[in-house]
Amino acid sequence: MPELPEILTRARGMSAELPGKLITSIDVIQPKCLNVPLEEFKTNLQGARLGQTTCHGKWLFTETSQGWLLLNLGMGGEIILATRSSLPEKFRLVFDFNDDSCLVVNFWWFGYAHYVKPDGLAGHTMTAKLGPNAVDISPAELLKMTRGQKAGVKAFLLDQKHIAGIGNAYIHDILFMAQLHPLRSLETISDPEIDRLAHAIHDGLQSSIDKGGAFYEVGLHGEKGGFTMEDVLIGYKEGQACPMCKTTILKIKTGGTSSYICPNCQPI
Ligand SMILES: [Zn+2]
Repeated sequence: MPELPEILTRARGMSAELPGKLITSIDVIQPKCLNVPLEEFKTNLQGARLGQTTCHGKWLFTETSQGWLLLNLGMGGEIILATRSSLPEKFRLVFDFNDDSCLVVNFWWFGYAHYVKPDGLAGHTMTAKLGPNAVDISPAELLKMTRGQKAGVKAFLLDQKHIAGIGNAYIHDILFMAQLHPLRSLETISDPEIDRLAHAIHDGLQSSIDKGGAFYEVGLHGEKGGFTMEDVLIGYKEGQACPMCKTTILKIKTGGTSSYICPNCQPI
C-alpha cells in the first residue's frame, strides 16, 4: 500500500511533467471511484489545464484551471504518463491531453478519483479531517499532539486523523528507531522519548523519500522506487538479527495487526 514516501514521490513526478497539459477527453472504466456523476466529472475537467500536484496523506491533489483533481490509489496502483498507442494493459481512468500524451490511472483494488471545485477543498470530507503530513511534524508539534493522549503509540501513529501518511510498511522501523514498543501507551512515554519518536518519523520516511519510495511502487514512467528490503531495519524481518543488538526480531500480535519488534531495544 502506498504511504507518504510513495505518494510524495508521485506528486513530485507529476509536478515535474504535467503542468501546462490540457485535458481534452476523459475515459472512466470504473465510475464508482468518482465522487460526482460521470458526466459532471467530465464536464468539470475537460478543457482544464493542469498545474502542480501536492499530497496530503495518501491523497494526490492536482490543481487545474477548473478546480482540483484528487486521486487516491487505495491499496496501490499505477499512475502512468503514456500515449494511446502505448497504454498499459490494465487501467481504470485515462485523461487525454492536447499533446497526445495521456495520464493512465490503475487501481489494484479500489481507489478514488474526485473532482473538487476551486474553493471546495474544506468541504471534501475524506481529506478535510486528515492530520498534518507525517514528514512536516516538528518535535514540538508532536509533543503537543500526544500529551494528554492515552492511546497506544502504534495505534496513534496509524490514525490518519492525527498524522497523515504512515501505514504498515514504515511503522515498524519508525517505532524501532524510537526504541518504543508498539503497545506503549502515550501516557507512559516521556517528553524526551516523544522527541526521539519525532526524529524517527522524519528519518524513517525521509530515507525512503530520498530513494524515490518503495520498490513495489512505480513512477510516471513505470520506474521502480529505490527503497528496498535491504533498507528496511526490522519490518517483516522476523527471525533475523536486530541491526543494533543482534537479538532475534519477533513478529507479535498488537490488536488487529502484526508488529515487528526487537524485544531488547523495544521493551514494553
Ligand atoms: Zn535490538
